[in-house]
Amino acid sequence: ALDSTYIRNHIRTVPDWPEPGVQFRDITPLLQNPKTFRVLVDLFVHRYMDKQLDIVAGVDARGFILGAVVAYELNLGFVPIRKKGKLPFLTVQEEYELEYGSATVEIHTDACKPGDRVLLIDDLVATGGTMIAAAKLLTRIGAEVVEAAAIVDLPELGGSKLIRDLNIPLHTVCN
Ligand code: IMP
Repeated sequence: ALDSTYIRNHIRTVPDWPEPGVQFRDITPLLQNPKTFRVLVDLFVHRYMDKQLDIVAGVDARGFILGAVVAYELNLGFVPIRKKGKLPFLTVQEEYELEYGSATVEIHTDACKPGDRVLLIDDLVATGGTMIAAAKLLTRIGAEVVEAAAIVDLPELGGSKLIRDLNIPLHTVCN
């Protein structure tokens, strides 16, 4: 509870960005401050150090920042889940609905080996669409999503419930 309050206190809410009515949670202050960055990374490292993970997957783009550092500290490799059109090799894709239109995420087909125990990391869960699509990609290439993790949950948007209803274990630090 102390940790979650500490982390929450270093997240900035920007009103009406990127459009009117949206309260954007900005995690850049958390990353900018060396103390909060270390507390954040260590929270994740301690949670996952004894989980026999094989690899960490991070979601484009803020999931790369946290995911890569956590992977490094856990002595694991890191694989990116990217927005459509960025990965050069063979990929699988998942399309998902946004409020207006749709989005597509991709992963390399050889990003994980069948049976790999994966930690999936993004910065924030809103409607859950991104995390669910990312988890589906990992499942499609044969990996096991041991847990999906994010810094922030916006529970009023329903994403975290949707994720858990699909039996994807989800961990978030604060809301
Ligand atoms: P969802 O797919 O609706 O759950 O949205 C989550 C994705 O959108 C994540 O990849 C986030 O990085 C991004 N996102 C949505 N809202 C915010 C926000 O308020 N702050 C930071 N990222 C956000």
